[in-house]
Amino acid sequence: MGPIEYSILKKIQGKLGRAGVIHTQHGDIETPAFVPVATKATVKALTPEQLRDTGAQVVLANTYHLYLQPGSEKVKNFGGLHKFMNWHGPTMTDSGGFQVFSLGAAYGKELSKVVKITNPEQILQERSLDGEIPRLATIGADGVSFRSHHDGSLHYITPEKSIEIQHNLGADIIFAFDECTSPAEDFRYQEEALERTHRWAKKSLDFHKSKPNSERQALFGIVQGGREESLRKKSAEYISSLDFDGFGIGGSFAKEDMETAVKWVNEILPEEKPRHLLGIGEPEDLFMGVENGVDLFDCVAPTRNGRGGTLYTHWGKINIRNAEYREDTSPLDPGCSCYTCKNFSRAYLCHLFRAHEMLGGTLGSIHNLYFVINLVRCMRQAILEGKFEEFKSSFLGTYGVLSSA
Ligand SMILES: [Zn+2]
Repeated sequence: MGPIEYSILKKIQGKLGRAGVIHTQHGDIETPAFVPVATKATVKALTPEQLRDTGAQVVLANTYHLYLQPGSEKVKNFGGLHKFMNWHGPTMTDSGGFQVFSLGAAYGKELSKVVKITNPEQILQERSLDGEIPRLATIGADGVSFRSHHDGSLHYITPEKSIEIQHNLGADIIFAFDECTSPAEDFRYQEEALERTHRWAKKSLDFHKSKPNSERQALFGIVQGGREESLRKKSAEYISSLDFDGFGIGGSFAKEDMETAVKWVNEILPEEKPRHLLGIGEPEDLFMGVENGVDLFDCVAPTRNGRGGTLYTHWGKINIRNAEYREDTSPLDPGCSCYTCKNFSRAYLCHLFRAHEMLGGTLGSIHNLYFVINLVRCMRQAILEGKFEEFKSSFLGTYGVLSSA
């Protein structure tokens, strides 16, 4: 047996979507599944027990952040990520690529996973050649040098280095080092970046296979290619020709391009290996991904929103701080079975957020994670029962009523 085993239980008729299970050495992941993000080896504001109670099966930590703080050797000396953070279920780490390019390259700017391609602010600063903007990341053929967003110290990450760091962290599923480009980049740049990503994928894989860790940790290759059909397909073909255990679909997406890009890629990727859509987690996008054959999703949105008081309901997102909730004795979402909804009123949550009480962030995160994890779990159940389309139209029929009103 390899580090993971994936099996398909049932497919959506006439579509790429499927329900399955990934066996890892720290337990099973029933897919499709939403993966909470534990950036610095913690899902912010939650204990592992609280996290488990939201239905989380697996967590994803960030290589970039843990490399800079506390350092991957320290985590290794603790016996790895599972022991360090006291989470005994499956774990993943990303390659660090996205953070190197968003935090290192475009320091001080937000490179969101879903961007408006018309916004020139989103263009990576390192490509400005006028010398007036400080260059915080420099891309070379072999790797990327960048300055830490903590202390400005200079670092150099190669594919081998990224894998070495991820071996130290010891997650069950790790990712090849890639360049994450903005969809605002032109075709020529996307093509160059893709060639680099492909070279780096091969180097990541060769380095991984040369170490004993390859028996314990599964390595996923990342498909890039921006919004270009030819590049996305070329990338899916090349990455699937290599002996990866699964695949990530990366890149910042313009919202309108996401579905076609995912479809192009998943029509090519081999059916028998799992696929992870990186950094995507809004309910509408989760339906799109599941329908088009994505097995895993991760996104900071549910917890980031949860800490800020933007909470999901079956009618859309609400800001619980709003005055209309001050005397509302009903639960946040009467259709939700999470700890927050079973025990507290909207009025109390509204009060906690207005008073800047820490419990607000915890209760908001618990609800939002439960909501998104449970939504994907229900999609899985609907696939198993042959009712995905019905579930999708019934959920999306009411979701968004608030925001479009
Ligand atoms: Zn809830």
